[in-house]
Amino acid sequence: MQQIPFRKRLLRKRIHNARSMNKKKYFDFVIVGQGLAGLAAAYYASEQGTVALVSKENFNISNSYLAQGGIASAISPDDSIKQHYKDTIAVGKNLCNKKAVKILVAEGKNIVREIISLGMKFDRNNTELDISLEGGHSKRRVLHSNGSSTGKELVRFFRSLITKNENITLFGNSFLFRILVRNRDAHGALFYNYKTQKDFRLLTYRTIIATGGLAGIYHKSTNPLSTSGDGIIAAYNAGAEIENIEFIQFHPTALNKKSCPPFLLSEALRGDGALLVDNNGKRIFSNTELTELSPRDELSKAIYQYISAGKNRNVFLSLSQIEKSVIRRKFSYLLNELKKYGIDIITSGIPVAPAAHYTVGGIKTGLFGETNITGLYAIGEAASAGVHGANRLASNSLLECLVFAKRCVKHSRSSSFTTPIKPEPESSLTIEDKNEKIFHKVRNQIAKILWEDVGIIRNAASLIRAKEKLSKLREKYSIPGNEYYLLQIQNLIQLALLLTNGALARKESRGCHIRSDYPNQNKKFERNSSQINKHTRLLKIRRER
Ligand SMILES: Cc1cc2nc3c(=O)[nH]c(=O)nc-3n(C[C@H](O)[C@H](O)[C@H](O)COP(=O)(O)OP(=O)(O)OC[C@H]3O[C@@H](n4cnc5c(N)ncnc54)[C@H](O)[C@@H]3O)c2cc1C
Repeated sequence: MQQIPFRKRLLRKRIHNARSMNKKKYFDFVIVGQGLAGLAAAYYASEQGTVALVSKENFNISNSYLAQGGIASAISPDDSIKQHYKDTIAVGKNLCNKKAVKILVAEGKNIVREIISLGMKFDRNNTELDISLEGGHSKRRVLHSNGSSTGKELVRFFRSLITKNENITLFGNSFLFRILVRNRDAHGALFYNYKTQKDFRLLTYRTIIATGGLAGIYHKSTNPLSTSGDGIIAAYNAGAEIENIEFIQFHPTALNKKSCPPFLLSEALRGDGALLVDNNGKRIFSNTELTELSPRDELSKAIYQYISAGKNRNVFLSLSQIEKSVIRRKFSYLLNELKKYGIDIITSGIPVAPAAHYTVGGIKTGLFGETNITGLYAIGEAASAGVHGANRLASNSLLECLVFAKRCVKHSRSSSFTTPIKPEPESSLTIEDKNEKIFHKVRNQIAKILWEDVGIIRNAASLIRAKEKLSKLREKYSIPGNEYYLLQIQNLIQLALLLTNGALARKESRGCHIRSDYPNQNKKFERNSSQINKHTRLLKIRRER
């Protein structure tokens, strides 16, 4: 095994001591999350040292697994990374970090080629890659796999690369509770294992948070319930800076049928000719500047306003313009899934409405996933690396997972520490079953508050209302102690407050943050928002990106 080239011999000695102190619990990398970002990071990190790959859910429950449309990469001959860069910047509405976007599109193209050469199969038309068009892209640029099962296939592919890898130890059913920090250095994390009902610590000099976003805490969301911002709030509690958290992307076309989940209807459908129509099959936006491929924020707002403007106003996605053979070949997954809800997408329109979909902001990082805490990294949807600005260009997030997973491992190899690995003693968690019911009740309350008052269209009145309700909940559940469900309740309330405070402070409409009381973009707010936990008393470091 290749050794990590640490600069100081002293440091090497400290690591050795930590290892021999508790052999089972020390790893060169602790990676939390088994979505695409975590899996890719584990693959690259395993070439450098030992890896603990931890996850609270099975590998098939994550946003990555659900991703349908594909992964963006300027791979076709009539496209260029310059054009991909331009499209990303345009959708990000002047808030993207230009350096980060350059890295995303350029390194992204290489990494897509790399995984193809490693055996990842993307769909082809005969021998040529079958490249799709999606909203906000000026070129056909989206590679897909097994029709609309791209996320599933990417997850399977990376799992196949890491299974049987002796350097990787998997910790399933394990919930990240706390990041262990001492003197501004992260030393691993505290977890709770649902099965053994015990907590345990994993020590490391490189803690990588790949726990995904938070959009699953909204009442209507395309994300699984488990996408609940755990890593973001754990990082916040540890003193990490949280950036642009008010930018939640709502997807315009989620299934809108009573007692059915808001299942995502991929943009790729509209890229192939699906139309947005009313009850009578008439195109809804034909007399406006909007098209079916307008950016997500614009379409979500328009569809939401159309539906809310009166009774019995519905929006349908009609696939009548797409050849049946194309639907069967490219969208077989959707065809089968929607049959379960009694909808035949070939013969009838699909009722759609917007739903919370993607967390644009998150844990603030530099260009290598590094945070303001030494040894703490964030990648994938949990991170705010600056590539999306005020809104995300469709299919850029799977690409971000791969690019920043690789960069993060590269950087963390050379990070240096000021203190030996010796986290503060942690008191053990307790668990009281009676609190489980309370947790679910509060979670539902928060989901509704966010959906109604911090939703697609916000304003000062709705945000202040949300803040008041959340503050009352906080008061009620500020019970000291280390009880599992109560800590989760407190974290969820804190997360919802971060979102609400961010949205209140941004007195403008930009990208996917839409305020009815400030309908225009305002130059004064052309900067990233930042929130940091005062109680951790860490010095705030401004990091040049
Ligand atoms: C329906 C849908 C369709 C999408 N389609 C596309 C698409 O076509 N193209 C595209 O680019 N993007 C798409 N996206 C977005 C994209 O899938 C995600 O942004 C990306 O996959 C996020 O990957 P991730 O690895 O950061 O997080 P995730 O894939 O969400 O993985 C998070 C991991 O962290 C674990 N975890 C969470 N909390 C804890 C905790 N407390 N303790 C331990 N483990 C924890 C979870 O169990 C999971 O393993 C889609 C998203 C959805 C929901």
